[in-house]
Amino acid sequence: MYAAMSRVSAVLQTCRWCGGRRPRARRLWAAGIERVLLAGLLLQGVACRRPPSPAQASRSREVMGTLATLTAVAHDEAAATAAVEAGYARLEDVNRLMSDYIADSEIGRLNRLPAGTPVPVAAETWACIRRALEVWRASGGAFDVTCRPLVSLWKQAGAQGRLPTVEQIAAVRALVGCDRIVMDETSRTVALPAAGMQIDLGGIAKGQALDLAAAAMRNRGARGALVDVGGDVVAVGTRPDGQPWRVGVKDPFRQGIVLVLRLSDRAVATSGVQQRFHEIGGRRYSHIIDPRTGWPATQAPSVTVIAADGITADAWATAFSVLSVSEGRELISTGRVADVEVLWITGDAGNPVMEKTPGFDQYVVE
Ligand code: ADP
Ligand code: MG
Repeated sequence: MYAAMSRVSAVLQTCRWCGGRRPRARRLWAAGIERVLLAGLLLQGVACRRPPSPAQASRSREVMGTLATLTAVAHDEAAATAAVEAGYARLEDVNRLMSDYIADSEIGRLNRLPAGTPVPVAAETWACIRRALEVWRASGGAFDVTCRPLVSLWKQAGAQGRLPTVEQIAAVRALVGCDRIVMDETSRTVALPAAGMQIDLGGIAKGQALDLAAAAMRNRGARGALVDVGGDVVAVGTRPDGQPWRVGVKDPFRQGIVLVLRLSDRAVATSGVQQRFHEIGGRRYSHIIDPRTGWPATQAPSVTVIAADGITADAWATAFSVLSVSEGRELISTGRVADVEVLWITGDAGNPVMEKTPGFDQYVVE
């Protein structure tokens, strides 16, 4: 009893959070002493001004075909680690549902089953396709998740080192068009009506996965988080020091970064030919295809989009890679795309050109 009392007194005298001295505990002998001491501790927690210094946990792992690094800030290290694991579980969920590389994922089944077969999908897949249709509409068809047959054609061309023929491109283009996706709200099923039609959520699902991971981490007690999947990032809250998170934008022409962003409760995604491209006849062709022509996008070597969430940033980074800079600016200035800031890097290694929307610089670290 005495030993227990002296331990509690020590806590009362020195504040656990700020290290400041608190009023010395009086001698308390009455019955119910533990309850009184507990109340004292709770009051002190309220009175103390400085919050506990938070802990941070960070783990890197391969997921969705790329390297992810998840970082969480929580009240202690165990909580931060649990939040990171909750984030990874959501990334894996999205991959399992939507990867077109996994034959029995929902998208894998949709692509494989006979034309017209309605495939029941999870709420996440439904929401992702719905969002893809919105971006398809707003981008005038530049963003189109039914582009998979074209993506495959160009992948094959890259592997063979030979450009596809005009006839091949025309035949495959006839299979592309988001307006043909059949979605039945009541049964929550999706169907592709023509043989050979296929969906590829590679330009949007990663962004949705970032959002779901960030939400899971927050629900698991993270007060701040940085979800980075292959350079596309959602930044929740702040770092342990209360500062916005720092995120680098890669240089599309050489190793290194072109600038650093400070982000809090924002997402950023970059699309471009830095990592993934096909080389045919000594020329690099983007892995992003312009569905309007059937040819790889040529507009900008790198497009970075900052938005309120990952799914918006990811989808529009791909869409703005297809659209020209002036087409993109037009969509933004007319309000057809709202609440996004964009950095286009055009030109070439010898003469790189950076073009930005007016609000982009508010996120750039000087
Ligand atoms: P990354 O996967 O490198 O982050 P993106 O987010 O820009 O890059 O997505 C590119 C992927 O999007 C391609 O690999 C392909 O799967 C898909 N895609 C290609 N062209 C289009 C397009 N016009 N609209 C929608 N998705 C596309
Ligand atoms: Mg994208």
